[in-house]
Amino acid sequence: MIFDIQPFERKLFYLISEAAQELCVSAYVVGGYVRDRLLGRPSKDMDIVCVGDGIALARHVASKLRPLPRVTVYSRFGTAMLRYRRMEIEFVGARKESYRIDSRKPDVVPGSLEDDQLRRDFTINALAVSLNPEDFGTIIDPFHGLEDLEQKIIRTPTDPSKTFSDDPLRMLRAIRFATQLKFVIEPTTWQGIVTNAARIHIVSMERIATELNKILAAAKPSIGFKLLEQSGLLARILPELAALRGVEYVDNKGHKDNFYHTLQVLDNVAQRSNNLWLRWAALLHDIGKAPTKRFEKDKGWTFHGHDAVGAAMVPKIFRRLRLPLDHKMKYVQKLVALHLRPISLTKENITDSAIRRLLFDAGDHLEDLMILCESDITSKNPRKVKRYLENYELVRQRLQEVEAKDRIRNWQPPISGELIMQAFGIQPSRQVGIIKRAIREAILDGEIPNDFEAAWHFMLRKGQELGLTPQITEPPKDLIPPRNPLPQGASDKLKA
Ligand code: ATP
Ligand code: MG
Repeated sequence: MIFDIQPFERKLFYLISEAAQELCVSAYVVGGYVRDRLLGRPSKDMDIVCVGDGIALARHVASKLRPLPRVTVYSRFGTAMLRYRRMEIEFVGARKESYRIDSRKPDVVPGSLEDDQLRRDFTINALAVSLNPEDFGTIIDPFHGLEDLEQKIIRTPTDPSKTFSDDPLRMLRAIRFATQLKFVIEPTTWQGIVTNAARIHIVSMERIATELNKILAAAKPSIGFKLLEQSGLLARILPELAALRGVEYVDNKGHKDNFYHTLQVLDNVAQRSNNLWLRWAALLHDIGKAPTKRFEKDKGWTFHGHDAVGAAMVPKIFRRLRLPLDHKMKYVQKLVALHLRPISLTKENITDSAIRRLLFDAGDHLEDLMILCESDITSKNPRKVKRYLENYELVRQRLQEVEAKDRIRNWQPPISGELIMQAFGIQPSRQVGIIKRAIREAILDGEIPNDFEAAWHFMLRKGQELGLTPQITEPPKDLIPPRNPLPQGASDKLKA
């Protein structure tokens, strides 16, 4: 089969082809780029395999490009990278790999194209496109990767158990691709993952976290977490989450399976937001339920304090997975800690101060918290879902009202009591209060504009109505405040 070369890549492919011929080597586009292009997915990185010296090819290609790109050489890996039109192009010599038991880093010797395709993790990742004159544009597919692409199957090119034992990161990659592409893992490949799950311990936490992040960023992250759980990997990389799995019964009373509930919440959040850290918050929001689970004779199953306990577990999980410990972790922790608060505000007779406290505690993350709470509704009963969502809508309205009122409370009219006293040469008195209030009302009612000039003249008139005589004609400069705009819609809110 011939690869459908697009106009945006034609010039580059010809140029690499020409450079390779001049160096008497052969070159191929391989791996993820070919896969993603055939699937119609966007791709930012391209891998070029050269049967020969990949670094020399990279330099020669670069010398033909204008402006001259910088070539970054990773001599330890025998690879070189250059950037061309926002594309990262990596060059590597074709290689043959062999593995040792204690490391996922292989011993590498130069090899043929077939050797290089054989070392790749999945059939759909082992496709190569020739850039050589004799078969330019031909797809070289020794493991029927095209068929697997068609049928949406993840399969290793060789013995799955050896593939996963050699480099256990591939188990996470298989599950990540199954999630991103909505592909199915072929049964013997799946068995290879289950058999080798314990080998995940030789993979660094950074690499594990990268794959978890990619699963979380997918359209339906639950696919990946279910596979992680079923394969035995989850218990090894996120045991706190795996502990939520299952239902326990006492006196014939069970609780819901908090693992599957969590995944439903996660998918719900994923439909509403692309924020990776909000998705982490969804994944971890009920993490405190395993350690707080109790059966109480009169109440049944309870998870008292699981919000606070869960929040306290977040830093340890982030540290272990080498996830950022900065404001992102604090954000996740805060959402886990607050995830029950909005529901407590759906009850009747909630005071302004309870609302105000949540406004203060959630701060800038209030909207994200509401998304998490709305996603936390996983009832199968549509009437209940509707009622819960309506309750949250009321909470949102209250939050907005209280916030608007609070901002009015902080707003100061442009004329101070002190200026009124100076203007009429009077001491603190009831009259000062009357004039001040009259100015505020006139502005809020829209009778006069919210600026100093208008308020000053209004004040002079109001004072005269009360029988006062102005003592100064010009206001002292130090008593003219900076402009202080009224919050939008505030006067409507106040009147209502
Ligand atoms: P993505 O770019 O979405 O992470 P990808 O498959 O392109 O997916 P890369 O890390 O860019 O992944 O790797 C490019 C290619 O290198 C892959 O398509 C695959 O052929 C090969 N590869 C990457 N990692 C491994 C691995 N751990 N084992 C075997 N082959 C791998
Ligand atoms: Mg890639």
